[in-house]
Amino acid sequence: MRELANDLKRSGVDVINFAAGELDGDASDLMKTAAKLAIDEGCNKYTPTLGTKRLRERVAELVSTRCGVPYGADEIGVTAGAKQALYNSAMVLFNPGDEVIIPQPYWVTFPAQVQLAGASPVFVDTARTGYQLASEDLERAITPETKAIIINSPNNPTGVIYEPGVLRRISQIALERKIWIIFDECYSELVRAGATHRNVVQLVEETKRQTILINSFSKSHAVTGWRIGYACGPKHVISAMETFQGHTTSNACTISQHAAAAALQQDDGQFIRNVSAVLEQRLRIAMRIVGSMSEISCAPANGAFYLFLNVAKKFGKSYRGQLIPNVGKLCELMLREVKVAVVPGDAFGDPTGLRVSYAIETSQVEEGLQRMSLFFDNIV
Ligand code: PMP
Repeated sequence: MRELANDLKRSGVDVINFAAGELDGDASDLMKTAAKLAIDEGCNKYTPTLGTKRLRERVAELVSTRCGVPYGADEIGVTAGAKQALYNSAMVLFNPGDEVIIPQPYWVTFPAQVQLAGASPVFVDTARTGYQLASEDLERAITPETKAIIINSPNNPTGVIYEPGVLRRISQIALERKIWIIFDECYSELVRAGATHRNVVQLVEETKRQTILINSFSKSHAVTGWRIGYACGPKHVISAMETFQGHTTSNACTISQHAAAAALQQDDGQFIRNVSAVLEQRLRIAMRIVGSMSEISCAPANGAFYLFLNVAKKFGKSYRGQLIPNVGKLCELMLREVKVAVVPGDAFGDPTGLRVSYAIETSQVEEGLQRMSLFFDNIV
């Protein structure tokens, strides 16, 4: 959808593109200066597979402070984005025959990576329970083959932040049943006012021995293209990742590692505060319009930069004589008729919804949602 929308835009069509999965702004001056300095100072060589000592130590400090539990540099692996950290985790932990629980809706890469490792994804619906994973549903999905559960909070595609009580119960179940938790918190810095993000290690210290925390600079520092993220977990797992990554891609980009280390060392938090203020304003505008849409409900959006709209009440109706049997057709018509691009929920395993990314220019958020609202009004 993102590429289709961009193609249309390039050919002169006035498309509003809510399909992107990244911030719209530039990277911070701090990271850009550090990257340029690294190039000028001749940082053109391989680094150790899981990153420079300096960056691993900085990440270890950050994660230790955040979690209130000590992490050493040998419990950190620097990767080409959160995606590689997740893939490393899947490849070193999952075997054919293993089952991995994935709450639904999910980020589309989770089941694909589980399958690449030869394991089977087991989906648990969360739409029914306010997009929080209910412990009864989790327990029902566990079998002797269950190896892990993948939790993503703040969530893509829903924008929902998992509640501490929910995470505590997930931790307890994982500890009792000896199940790994892969905890993807790559939107941890993107939390709207009044909400708080927590991870399972912060909440239940013992979970550390069975958890891989996944994070990234992509979203928090607006450097999706620089490919820099990390995994934090028990030493033996990180060491297995080192072997695996050493034979697949080697180290994450040296320049990006230098920039990331500078960001951790010198960052005063101003960049993320600015980003948050802008997202806050966009969310307020978005919710004003979404709140007035008839027959549409929205997941409680407290984090990342996504809205997940339930549009199921529109199915079986028509837009100007064109039947809408499902979300795919609805999104296709929306793009064709009012030039608004979103991602249909079936891509995330939830065919009742669609994802809107509000990390686009504020005026476009307003204009795009107004067009969407008018489009919905004309579905009868
Ligand atoms: N996890 C989630 C939930 C994501 O949404 C994304 C990016 N869309 C990633 C991981 C991958 O991020 P990165 O760019 O750091 O690989």
